[in-house]
Amino acid sequence: MIITDTHTHLYSEAFDEDRDAMIQRAMDAGVERFFIPAIDSTYTQSMLDLETKYPKNVFLMMGLHPTHVKENYKEELALVADWLSKRKFYAVGEIGIDLYWDRVFLKQQQEAFVHQIRLAKKHKLPIVIHSRESFDQIFEILEQEKGDGLFGIFHCFTGTKQQAERAIGYNMKLGIGGVVTFKNGQIDQFLHEIDLKHIVLETDSPYLAPVPHRGKRNESGYIIKVLEKLSHIYGVPAERIAAITTENSKHIFGI
Ligand SMILES: [Zn+2]
Repeated sequence: MIITDTHTHLYSEAFDEDRDAMIQRAMDAGVERFFIPAIDSTYTQSMLDLETKYPKNVFLMMGLHPTHVKENYKEELALVADWLSKRKFYAVGEIGIDLYWDRVFLKQQQEAFVHQIRLAKKHKLPIVIHSRESFDQIFEILEQEKGDGLFGIFHCFTGTKQQAERAIGYNMKLGIGGVVTFKNGQIDQFLHEIDLKHIVLETDSPYLAPVPHRGKRNESGYIIKVLEKLSHIYGVPAERIAAITTENSKHIFGI
């Protein structure tokens, strides 16, 4: 069984004490593919180090996270463009709009999102979308940018069935993680109506740990809990869910 964690911040400070042991635990659980979203340039070196250490398992993305769109966002975007032209990355992410923390930089977040979507199109890469309290703003931009070159993953999808269908309509897979195990997570109510070909697995570790680890540090190996929950929702063996979602991830990332 090969499990793919399509979204894990392995470089996070939360893993500084036990990173290699944590990665080994995930591998022991069957996770062989780790896709690593970028946040901003302060993490780039740690990401490259991970890739050097685990060249067969770690696949890097490049991008500027919406909560890190600040006064210096233009310099950050220039670095993103520069990296993308210099070497291989597997997606532009994570990018999008986050209105949970504050709306001060909404205009700049929108500008950065559009700019990075166009970089992805230029390099024929998928995008990995981060959306928090921002479905309308995200969909407005996807509507404007839709078409052949636009595809990717709606990371940590937590919307309604209608929003799920709309995201799929823009060539997005739904990234399903720990939230699906939450009692009030809601997506478990309709997910069985969404074909498995539209689903990929993720942890978003160290955030959003699944039950029974909810509220604690998340790690990639806990993806098993997400897998088990999906197996229950779809009435399909976990091995089969792992195989389908890994296949889906290969279509998206091209590896
Ligand atoms: Zn993330």
